[in-house]
Amino acid sequence: MSDALSAPPPATASKPLSAPQKALRKLGLVRAIDLALHLPLRYEDETRIVRLRDAREGEEVQIEGVVTSCELSPGPRRQLLVVLDDGSERCTLRFFSFYPSHQNTLSVGACIRARGELRGGFLGWTMMHPTFRVAGGELPDALTPVYPTSAGLPQAYLRRAVLGGLDRADLGDTIPPDALADCPGLRQRLPGGGQGVWSLREALYFLHHPRPDTSLAALEDRSHPAWQRLKAEELLAQQLSQHRAKQERDLLRAPALHRRPQGLDQQLLAVLPFGLTAAQARVVDEIAADLARPVPMHRLLQGDVGSGKTVVAALAATVAIEAGWQCALMAPTEILAEQHFSKLVGWLEPLLAPLGKSVAWLTGSQKKKERAAMLARIASGEAALVVGTHAVIQDQVQFQNLALAVIDEQHRFGVAQRLALREKMRDAGLEPHLLMMSATPIPRTLAMSYYADLDVSTIDELPPGRSPIVTKTVSDSRRDEVIGRIRAQVAQGRQVYWVCPLIEESEALDLGNATATHLELSAAMEGLCNADGTPLRVGLLHSRMPPVEKKAVMALFSAGLMGVLVSTTVIEVGVDVPNASLMVIEHAERFGLSQLHQLRGRVGRGAAASACLLLYSTNESGRLSETARERLRAMAETTDGFEIARRDLEIRGPGEFLGARQSGAAMLRFADLATDIHLLEWARAWAPVMLERWPRLAQQHVERWLGGKSDYLKA
Ligand code: ADP
Ligand code: MG
Repeated sequence: MSDALSAPPPATASKPLSAPQKALRKLGLVRAIDLALHLPLRYEDETRIVRLRDAREGEEVQIEGVVTSCELSPGPRRQLLVVLDDGSERCTLRFFSFYPSHQNTLSVGACIRARGELRGGFLGWTMMHPTFRVAGGELPDALTPVYPTSAGLPQAYLRRAVLGGLDRADLGDTIPPDALADCPGLRQRLPGGGQGVWSLREALYFLHHPRPDTSLAALEDRSHPAWQRLKAEELLAQQLSQHRAKQERDLLRAPALHRRPQGLDQQLLAVLPFGLTAAQARVVDEIAADLARPVPMHRLLQGDVGSGKTVVAALAATVAIEAGWQCALMAPTEILAEQHFSKLVGWLEPLLAPLGKSVAWLTGSQKKKERAAMLARIASGEAALVVGTHAVIQDQVQFQNLALAVIDEQHRFGVAQRLALREKMRDAGLEPHLLMMSATPIPRTLAMSYYADLDVSTIDELPPGRSPIVTKTVSDSRRDEVIGRIRAQVAQGRQVYWVCPLIEESEALDLGNATATHLELSAAMEGLCNADGTPLRVGLLHSRMPPVEKKAVMALFSAGLMGVLVSTTVIEVGVDVPNASLMVIEHAERFGLSQLHQLRGRVGRGAAASACLLLYSTNESGRLSETARERLRAMAETTDGFEIARRDLEIRGPGEFLGARQSGAAMLRFADLATDIHLLEWARAWAPVMLERWPRLAQQHVERWLGGKSDYLKA
């Protein structure tokens, strides 16, 4: 650090960057190779000039002719109207915005080349806002690339920059010939004729400047062999970096934690009111096998909502505690952390008390004094298990010896937060084992690609005795019927959730919505009673309530003393009240698919038949958007979390599905997991071979593709 401060600034720092240079930097186009790998979005054909007589309406064409008139249209909205005559017919070019220089270039008698979409009509051909320049000069012999760009970065500047990058970059092949020969879809007719595999250089030069006879369809759907080569390159880089991260992690040390006969885990199993499902027992074994190794576990436990992940985490914790180490469990919301805490205290404290140990609790809203006491217990090691929110990873929290970190609903946390939890152990030269839990299952292709360095355990069955949830979509115009249904459920002693959407732009509106519904339902439940004979309680829960109030509402609902709970999405994760048998989701069209699935998982936890009503409102024209309709249909058709995840992926695409922040998904620019499985499988098979046999090439390859970004994949 100090070196950097005292060193003279690099030569380039004295010259401030121009606006386009800054824009390039912002797009991550810094090195020559970055520019060379910045591929066109689409192409324009400027290789041909079309005669107007031969042109067709709606075609994107380039024409050339002499300006026969150039004038401003009369009227309030000034337009520049230019008539071009190409010797066969005439075409009017219309400009709604223009500079004075336009009029100079387009003056009568000038010979102009213009490009745009041709429209026919009453007054003959027109082009709106064509691009144009003075005619003359040779026609290009390749399609003109159009690059993804940003404000302040003109296409022409970017084209020159990319061309420069292509010429300067080292484009030598980094994929060994053996691997290339094995790659499906790469053997094709080469640009120079003959059969073979496209080199990176050939593929790049081609994609930046394809010959005019190239099939635009093959370029657009990226099935062209040059595209295949680029996608294979990209996927290989990603797999290499994942494998390397795994190798690096395998060099780290973690405490080896062994299960004992008659150990704490067996004692916990003996007092649980249920036996494990076969799937739970299997994943417990998988986790125990990891814990017994002196290498940090890096495992994702995935299982649908309600599949019973918490008890698996508790069992893993007992193994660590028995061996004399501490555990941490971190959850994304206070309500969820609180639920975990009370459940785990109930299960574990009777077993821990004889050992002089306890379960500690940490959240942001805690009183100072309580917090200080907790911190002391954690530091001394008396707290064998620490449950909490993000508070668990704050600096002041010092563990005596953390051996296992469990992260619930891991997709809610970012890379940095996961790393911070691992850092809690660094002092001892050891890493903690990491168990991540998620109710959003990852489809196989995603798991294969993004999580090549992650072991995955899956709970693929629900505990017995669950009743299936019947899901119906209902128009908001039938709200009265829905309320009638709620009364019927409550009259039978059942409980009901009513969820209102979170409107991100306006917390006030969101609250207003929930409050209004709360009033409406309170009035509608008149005459009904709670289990204790008091008039029926209708509760309200939203994110801006003070934690004590939230806690009080949740306590009443959990105890069965509140018939209806109106809530914003704060109840989304983890809440567990088996007597709740009906969930109404208002404005269901505004929720994402996996969020709807998570919400629905709050019901159907007991033996009673459960239902989920997706209340939707249509827009002014009485319609739902296509994706909203697809989401609601998927929800009504299946309750299987894996199927939901598959459809979600289909509707949203992988980047959005995972959120770039924690997946590295943003790094796949070219490959598409839906269509490029064959390339992914190839990359996955060759990455370890390449690391072993051609480590230098592997290093170069990752450098070229990921530059400084590969750190992201390690967390
Ligand atoms: P999730 O996987 O969504 O986190 P939980 O761990 O909250 O699910 O479990 C849901 C409910 O099922 C809890 O009440 C839990 O105690 C209960 N449960 C867990 N495993 C079993 C089982 N094997 N048999 C019966 N109930 C179980
Ligand atoms: Mg859970």
